[in-house]
Amino acid sequence: MEIIVGQTSGFCFGVENAVNGTQKVLNDNGRVYCLGELIHNNQVIKSLEDCGMITVDNLNDVPKGEKVIFRAHGEAKKVYELAQQINLKVFDFTCPKVKAIHIKVEREKEKSFIIIVGKKNHPEIIGTKGFAGKNSYVIECEDDILDAYMEYEKTNLGRVYVFSQTTFSSSKFDKIVEEIQVNFYEADVFVDKTICDSTENRQQETREISKKVNKMIIIGGKNSSNTKEIAKVAEENCNHVYLVQTADDLKGVEFSGQDRIGIMAGASTPQKSINQIIDFLKA
Ligand code: SF4
Repeated sequence: MEIIVGQTSGFCFGVENAVNGTQKVLNDNGRVYCLGELIHNNQVIKSLEDCGMITVDNLNDVPKGEKVIFRAHGEAKKVYELAQQINLKVFDFTCPKVKAIHIKVEREKEKSFIIIVGKKNHPEIIGTKGFAGKNSYVIECEDDILDAYMEYEKTNLGRVYVFSQTTFSSSKFDKIVEEIQVNFYEADVFVDKTICDSTENRQQETREISKKVNKMIIIGGKNSSNTKEIAKVAEENCNHVYLVQTADDLKGVEFSGQDRIGIMAGASTPQKSINQIIDFLKA
């Protein structure tokens, strides 16, 4: 059996920063609240919760004066305002790449209709939309473009600024942008492909590995957007793609000594989880 492990597998810079930062806050303070799941990985969350992290879905569930973590996905502007109103100490681990998008969106929103290409319910997109204000629209697929155009027509803006979710599929973004340019032909359309290089490199390496193997294992949370995207990329070239969280998910899959197996992991997957899968395959 040959195993090829992607060099770009595992924690990205933003996730690593959020996990290490949270661990430091816990070491210094003993307890901290986290707004939403810190990362899409149950084992990492459990170990931080064992150290005192308390995950909440709503800022109003954090007692006044307490400490709260904003995760790498970022939050909407009104969430920062609410945190201030209820006197919370915020440890902001929004990834600098997401922060840069918020700054650009704020700069553009007075003069442009903002289009964000991404998953409507993804926390990063909810946060970015919260900075973009009313003259904005989220496009998830080509079918949304007409509705976006109707919203654009209600404004007096002649300029359209297109951003992307940092973990969106690069090829899907390019296709959607082509359609936007056709439909918004009389507007000045500016395209800012804000897909993170960590995401692009991971998708590219997945594409290359999946061409060389007969089975591909993608490790990551089932609700992780970037993990689902790399699984889709692998499926373009490989007929046996397994999206797993732990080695338990591989029980029942038949492996043989002739297999060439590719391994890639999402941005929220720690090295420990990757090693566990490699050990399982070797055993
Ligand atoms: S995928 Fe990129 S933008 Fe998102 S948290 Fe990681 S480094 Fe930041």
